[in-house]
Amino acid sequence: MSNVYFASARIKKWKYDDSIPGKLERLLNEIDLGKYLEPEEWVAVKTHFGSEGAHRIVRPVFLRKVVEALKGIGAKPFVTDTVRIKGLDYLEVANQNGINHLSCGAPVVLADGLYGRDNIMVKAGEILGEIAVASLIYDVPAMVVCSHVKGHINAGYGGAIKNVAMGGVSSGHRHLGWKYGRGAMHTIGEGKLVWDQEKCELCYQCEEICPLDAITFEDDKLIWDGDECWRCGRCVRVCQLEAVSLPCDDERFMRSLSEAAKAVLSTFKPNKVIYINFLTEIQPECDCMPAADVPVIQDQGILISDDIVSIEQASIDILLKAHPLPASMAQESDITPGEDILLKLHHRPYMLQVEEAERLGIGSRRYELVEI
Ligand code: SF4
Ligand code: SF4
Repeated sequence: MSNVYFASARIKKWKYDDSIPGKLERLLNEIDLGKYLEPEEWVAVKTHFGSEGAHRIVRPVFLRKVVEALKGIGAKPFVTDTVRIKGLDYLEVANQNGINHLSCGAPVVLADGLYGRDNIMVKAGEILGEIAVASLIYDVPAMVVCSHVKGHINAGYGGAIKNVAMGGVSSGHRHLGWKYGRGAMHTIGEGKLVWDQEKCELCYQCEEICPLDAITFEDDKLIWDGDECWRCGRCVRVCQLEAVSLPCDDERFMRSLSEAAKAVLSTFKPNKVIYINFLTEIQPECDCMPAADVPVIQDQGILISDDIVSIEQASIDILLKAHPLPASMAQESDITPGEDILLKLHHRPYMLQVEEAERLGIGSRRYELVEI
């Protein structure tokens, strides 16, 4: 059984100590970073930079508190994420969303280089075999994983496991290609994109969202460049008519997330990774989408733990007790209080990722919630 420390988003007093940044400072004290990290040690503060229109990420004010706490014990932090769109463009996105050296108080760097090809093959498991872990995450001795908790069109729920799994590996390997990157989780087999001309209304959203220009239209026909394509799935997610698809298996997807998370974590010695889940601005979709919808439930607070499975289970337990918000996708989906909001939003077996992570031995679903 692991401890999960929790601070509610509600404030009871108009004091800094009761604010969310103030409570995050207290949580970081509570877990005692000095137990895990050495002075002078380099520490990756792993987050998601968001996208040009998805601003509901872990806010820079929180990243700065984490950086300051790490500096307070003499560690040397930097803020990082892997390349999701072309590297230079992604750094611009980070800057636009307020994540930069000045705001965070530490360098902001790409974990797998500007081209997203700096990675090292790491043994995974029976689904993935091997996976290309970002070289910086592979090399760094310690990590604080700052995850924005939200829904997810494919995973149902996105938190620390997804941040470590998808966010700790590259889109592809320099020689071995997309099959050893996050595309190996997103799709199956040859990952051949299928376009259904009958359904397509030529809105060109898929072409616009593709980070690699792997989709073009000629004479009103979709042309897909399978050699260029990362199998990131963005085109599939933005098509509201389901006119493009990649072959996918939900159960395999969930299990492969846990497998990739285990592979990434295998590059660290025990007790060198800490997880912070931000249950704030909990919107229905992933932070890599081109827009962020309004939250489906109210801000709940922040959790911190050294157990990735415990913090995910505790986060989900809190989400499931929360009431759906009016004027949100939750209301449009007719979700009533007490119903499983994560399941009803996306109809995905989201708990599988947590159960599988426990089965693979990277943590325990049994936890004790310690509220500060
Ligand atoms: S997003 Fe869908 S509907 Fe729009 S052009 Fe692409 S396939 Fe067609
Ligand atoms: S999956 Fe779609 S959006 Fe992603 S790289 Fe391939 S074609 Fe582009």
